[in-house]
Amino acid sequence: MASKPTPAYDASLADHGFEAKELKGLTYPLGDHAPTYGEIYPLAPDLGWTRMPVPGNLAHINIWLLDDGDGYAIADTGLFMPGTIDQWKALFGDALADRKLTRIFVTHFHPDHVGCAGWLANKFKVPIWMNRTEWLMARMLTSDIKEHPPEEVLERRVFAGWDEERVEKMRSGGWGNFARAVSRLPTGHVRMDDGQMIRVGNRDWTVMTGGGHTPEHVSLVDFTNGMVIAGDQILPRITSNVSTMDSEPEADPLGEWLAGLAKFRAALPADMLVLPAHGEPFTGVHVRLDRLAAGHHERLDALEAALREKEMRGVDTFGLLFDREIDDSVYGLATGEAMAHLRHLQLTGRVNCEVRDGAGWYFAV
Ligand SMILES: [Zn+2]
Repeated sequence: MASKPTPAYDASLADHGFEAKELKGLTYPLGDHAPTYGEIYPLAPDLGWTRMPVPGNLAHINIWLLDDGDGYAIADTGLFMPGTIDQWKALFGDALADRKLTRIFVTHFHPDHVGCAGWLANKFKVPIWMNRTEWLMARMLTSDIKEHPPEEVLERRVFAGWDEERVEKMRSGGWGNFARAVSRLPTGHVRMDDGQMIRVGNRDWTVMTGGGHTPEHVSLVDFTNGMVIAGDQILPRITSNVSTMDSEPEADPLGEWLAGLAKFRAALPADMLVLPAHGEPFTGVHVRLDRLAAGHHERLDALEAALREKEMRGVDTFGLLFDREIDDSVYGLATGEAMAHLRHLQLTGRVNCEVRDGAGWYFAV
């Protein structure tokens, strides 16, 4: 085997002057330090870190700026909403004033990642690099706006155990929320496929896809310098949402997610620095991937045991699956996550499902 190529710079972050923090087996080399909005923090001479605001629990998304020869590329873009647009404009007027945007990498189709991509691509006439499936999802959802949700979507909420009041609220709430936080995307994109190598400045980034959170979420791995731009694939503190999606209700997203965790566990060296979309950069990727997988397996086991005692619909499992109260703001996400766990148990032969009055009742024998 060839010896490891010399890194482009010292990736240890040891000289940044912050005190590293250890928490639950992970090391945060910069401690709690993070750039403020409008600031670009140099993680390395050719790699900048900034943040954009996100409403709700997430609070922020991390954006990465990569030296790209005669300019810079960005990885992820933030929601297309006034708070983010103002931050981008401030950066273009200040820290990025003399520099040229070359291209936009987007890890996956979720609005906090793809939101500003179209606006930026159209404004600066630069290409969007995205996995084709993720691209098509984003393009589809930005055009899919209706007065009411499709009837089969409402039926799936009934299947999950939603009561009439909640279904009616969804019916009257319209369809097409996605388009509200995502700018118009240009007609074309540049495809990123699993295993593809992309040269950006002096670095080679390898594309690694994973399913379950979205169909083909892209992470970018710099094996030479020991870094991964992880998107939502590997987050340090929160668990990525894994939901049954209306675009593929018969699929097994949790099975795909677990396969993805194993794939990244096998491919990434233990000492890699993870640059997550939410939270702070950390090392300890194997510890984190193992804990994420174990957490899902524990919940699957607990769910199967409970379903031996009594039958349940998706909404009946919230208390078992989540450590917190599920209020209206996260009810849809919790439903998707619950259905993903039940579906995985069913597809692996551990539980059965019986449909009564449109609701799916799961039980183990
Ligand atoms: Zn996401």
